[in-house]
Amino acid sequence: MKPPVIPHDVPYKLANGALRDRSVFEIGGRLVGGDHFAMIAGPCTVESREQLLTSADAMLEAGATMFRGGAYKPRTSPYAFHGLGHEGLRLLAEAKERTGLPIVTELMDVRDVEAVVGVADVIQIGARNMQNYTLLTEIGRSGVPALLKRGLSATLDELLNASEYILAEGNEKVLLCERGIRTFETAYRFTLDLTAIPVLKELTHLPIIVDPSHAAGRRALVEPLSLAAAAAGADGIIVEVHPDPDNAVCDGPQQLRTDEFPEYLRKVEQVAQIAGKVLGGVPV
Ligand code: PEP
Ligand code: MN
Repeated sequence: MKPPVIPHDVPYKLANGALRDRSVFEIGGRLVGGDHFAMIAGPCTVESREQLLTSADAMLEAGATMFRGGAYKPRTSPYAFHGLGHEGLRLLAEAKERTGLPIVTELMDVRDVEAVVGVADVIQIGARNMQNYTLLTEIGRSGVPALLKRGLSATLDELLNASEYILAEGNEKVLLCERGIRTFETAYRFTLDLTAIPVLKELTHLPIIVDPSHAAGRRALVEPLSLAAAAAGADGIIVEVHPDPDNAVCDGPQQLRTDEFPEYLRKVEQVAQIAGKVLGGVPV
């Protein structure tokens, strides 16, 4: 077989879709990418033991494939709640022990690498840190799978170059995440760039996860955006779900209620099936 032709003007080499077949890899005993659809669900942030474990139990029962929750939160205001830190990580470890669901949680600072690596099955790199290259390199070195969120105003080329920092350290398990970008539109929080899904499929072999929650900023938009993302070929969704969103510490208006999640997941699963994907999947 002839070696693949890599356009010389494309700077990213390891993320390049022309280089290899689509990535399918294992995370915490689940397959991600290819024909597998990931449903990563859970609250924006870890608030308390009861809130976290109630959420984790509900996500497991409904059929989510991974559990999300932030212990370190990037907030626009320095006066806002910034997460429970180490205590949040401890509670996430308890949720994992109890449900078996792999944990997706954000790392903001290289000083916390060791603590987060001890708990996370997937390290989330927030939109605001997409181009924090020292952080990306450390995550690459950790070998822990990464969920790299697209920056608020980042091009796809910049996103792929950022992923290259992780891949270049020998960490092949990188999930790209479209979470909405800044446009002139002010009627909703961010504009979910659905076109990015098929275009990234052309450019890269890495799985594409969509975050409808942070794009939308409000609950009513989360389901239609999720269905559209699944239809457009996303490899999974990361969505915020809370047992009592009206009293959530952050991002309350956009979080789905745990009791509406099972029906939501059924609909997303149906559309993902039409797009040729099955929910979850374990290595054989
Ligand atoms: C989050 O996932 O809770 C989050 C803060 O996301 P983003 O970095 O996309 O704003
Ligand atoms: Mn959030």
